[in-house]
Amino acid sequence: MEKIVIIGSGCAGWTAALYAARANLQPLVLAGTQPGGLLTTTTTVENYPGFPDGVDGYELMTRMQKQAERFGARPQFGTVEAADFSKRAFVLTVDGQRMETQTVVIATGASHRHLGLESEAKLETKGVTYCATCDGALPVFRNQPLVVVGGGDSACEEANFLTRFGSVVHLVHRRDTLRASKIMADRTLSNPRIKPIWDSVVTDILDVKQDNVTGVRLKNVKTGAESTVACAGVFVAIGHTPNTAIFKGQITMDEDGYIRPQRGTMTNVPGVFVAGDCADHIYRQAITAAGMGCAAAIDAERYLAALNQ
Ligand code: NAP
Repeated sequence: MEKIVIIGSGCAGWTAALYAARANLQPLVLAGTQPGGLLTTTTTVENYPGFPDGVDGYELMTRMQKQAERFGARPQFGTVEAADFSKRAFVLTVDGQRMETQTVVIATGASHRHLGLESEAKLETKGVTYCATCDGALPVFRNQPLVVVGGGDSACEEANFLTRFGSVVHLVHRRDTLRASKIMADRTLSNPRIKPIWDSVVTDILDVKQDNVTGVRLKNVKTGAESTVACAGVFVAIGHTPNTAIFKGQITMDEDGYIRPQRGTMTNVPGVFVAGDCADHIYRQAITAAGMGCAAAIDAERYLAALNQ
């Protein structure tokens, strides 16, 4: 039986692993579908303390993993399909295999939110994407008009990044001001290659018949006016959904699926702890996720010490 299983390998997961490993708990880290978490899909991280010149997101996560492994953390590629927290020991089903553990840290993060359009689903990977860092440099987007949807830091970051490749980047936002941080908003709005389209939502992505993206249909939410903007790519950056579906019914969550810790990082199930974006819809920063991962490992260690006394 494991002493502690950490589900997720983003900032929260690896920091929990580092602290649990240094407490001699030999944590098992289940890497999940996105090893390294969402930070691996970003470019330079400029706001993680200790890196005055910024650090590549992928590199930061690789360093976190190495640091945790140095003290005995054990990564395992695998996805948790089911969890049973109704009795001790807890049982996890990982890629069909049953696993028992005394404690769990849920650090499953959050995934990109979708617009919910039929055409969006049909054209995913055919011009519709959720990650400029991953896909922006593809030949199909080079010197072409591109569309970014959203008004937060992610959308601004994507739009700025895409100006390296596209002929012009249309930033479609449903309000008339950006939600992004001031520094990011200023950088975006002063970039001559980014053209904001305010008060507008995407109602359709063209062209499903051609099986690739040729444009977007837009609706102005104030006037109702409809228009079409030609583009070769649609980069959706409208926020995230917490990856908590498999814990539904067992772990207390809010209406959006974010886990609600009860005391410190402990959930409603003693012995199950939570850290990072799957429990945080307010801050959602690498450093806050890492901090919560640290707290979860300390809470788990103290819980185990009390249990074994
Ligand atoms: P976010 O701040 O929640 O912004 C999501 C944006 O998408 C909002 O502008 C929202 O519009 C829009 N939106 C949501 N649903 C939509 C829909 N169905 N149709 C059209 N638009 C929709 O998410 P985020 O930009 O991913 O940022 C998340 C967190 O990570 C934030 O705390 C952010 O500061 C942080 N972050 C930081 C950095 C950095 O510092 N380098 C980079 C990326 C993200 P409304 O404004 O109308 O709600």
